[in-house]
Amino acid sequence: MIEKTDSKRLISLADKLYKNTSLSPEEYKELIDNRNDEISQYLFSKAREIRHKYYGNKVYIRGLIEFTNFCKNDCLYCGIRRSNHNAQRYRLSEEDILSCCKEGYGLGFRTFVLQGGEDPYFSDERICSIVKKIKEAFPNCAVTLSIGEKSRESYESYFKAGADRFLLRHETADRCHYGKLHPKELSLENRMRCLKDLKSIGFQTGTGFMVGSPFQTTDCLVKDMMFLKELQPEMVGIGPFIPHNDTPFRDKPQGSCELTLFMLGLIRLTLPKALIPATTALGTIEKDGREKGILSGANVVMPNLSPMSVRKKYLLYNNKIATGEESAQSISLLRQSLENIGYEAVVSKGDYPKD
Ligand code: SAH
Repeated sequence: MIEKTDSKRLISLADKLYKNTSLSPEEYKELIDNRNDEISQYLFSKAREIRHKYYGNKVYIRGLIEFTNFCKNDCLYCGIRRSNHNAQRYRLSEEDILSCCKEGYGLGFRTFVLQGGEDPYFSDERICSIVKKIKEAFPNCAVTLSIGEKSRESYESYFKAGADRFLLRHETADRCHYGKLHPKELSLENRMRCLKDLKSIGFQTGTGFMVGSPFQTTDCLVKDMMFLKELQPEMVGIGPFIPHNDTPFRDKPQGSCELTLFMLGLIRLTLPKALIPATTALGTIEKDGREKGILSGANVVMPNLSPMSVRKKYLLYNNKIATGEESAQSISLLRQSLENIGYEAVVSKGDYPKD
């Protein structure tokens, strides 16, 4: 029988992580596998402490514009995969995107995140033109792209056009697990090549993974932590896997809020200065999920700025929240709910701290 790790041991591991910002794979595994409410609460208090050191009680807000749900890829988990013929496809025009930014600017957003499927219609030329126009109209704002895997040359052209940041979750750092979530044309190697290119070009780079995705084991999560430590991304987004009815994973169980929060705490201690969102997926599976995310170490929220008419179509998973408190238009409710837990949503670009 495996000896149960006692709580003193778990606390000492959390303290070690707090102090050294890293653990061995075996130690991460021990913490994850033996976690309980007591150690979780301890981890979260340490996560808040270290975040406070760099960010105080500030929470950064990003306006998320889901500008296309056409996708050439066929990721098994994702509701906008190309073989989902039930998805109602849409694309926003350059004009639509700019008017989302204008509305967002008025609401206090200083970062616009353009996220989409991998849609060949949006050539490098089109993306660069959109980026340039946003930066011209809103010079004090950051533009973040989240448009998938591209060549180094393409990434360079977006950076030259003025894009500041790029989000590309690695999804899982375990090769075999990666293969079970993706069609064979996609590889972990290329995903990692993309992330390394993005970092070396100079993007503030975000990566991340789903928690509780089908076939995930603790060893996968440990590899995710080791990968994060090595890559040193400026941003890390994680959220629970949630099944979508029109995908092969329709009957797979959803990831838990509890494990997602625990992983958020571990990530905060591993990458103290990272910008970490409390994601929409977390807010979808649990009421107050986003607030719980903030209390576990997150410091970013990304309300939806997409036009109302398309919101329900960017359906990555079932029941994705779209028009309630998480929307950009309800920013005052969000501000209030953050204030209630002691945090302040700030009007700021919210770059990664330089030193
Ligand atoms: N095409 C872009 C954006 C993908 S959508 C890219 O490849 O980066 C953004 C994120 O949503 C994905 O990286 C994935 O981690 C998450 N996602 C997709 N389907 C999901 C699901 N069923 N449950 C939870 N998260 C999901």
